[in-house]
Amino acid sequence: MPIDAARPYDPDNIFAKILRGEIPSNKVYEDAHALAFHDINPQAPRHILVIPKGAYVSWDDFAAKGSDAEIAGFVRAVGQVARDAGMVEPGYRLLANIGQDAHQEVPHLHVHIFAGRPLGPMLV
Ligand code: C5P
Repeated sequence: MPIDAARPYDPDNIFAKILRGEIPSNKVYEDAHALAFHDINPQAPRHILVIPKGAYVSWDDFAAKGSDAEIAGFVRAVGQVARDAGMVEPGYRLLANIGQDAHQEVPHLHVHIFAGRPLGPMLV
């Protein structure tokens, strides 16, 4: 079920549990501000999720409440993951679903990275 991104952060959401090490993930990158892991239900040959370590539901929540260090660290982490995974050529796609209309299912901000095949024109 898509979530209401305006609601308060739920500390028991599944990505919070992954951050706390309470449930496993297939980790590909971690630093002070971000964690990246393979999506359990990949929608492309390569499908990685990058999440900030802070408790943010949405992009707008993160932009409003995140520190400059957290925001810069997260943005850099997304780029680092794509570089480390060898996705820069021939390319990759970033996507963040925010709120009900975008069908956000997990109420902790996450950026999807898709790669590994021609992804076609952007669909909305
Ligand atoms: O953007 P949205 O919230 O719809 O996507 C959530 C993503 O989290 C899905 O692609 C789902 O496969 C992934 N997921 C995961 N590991 C979990 C739970 C969900 O990779 N334990």
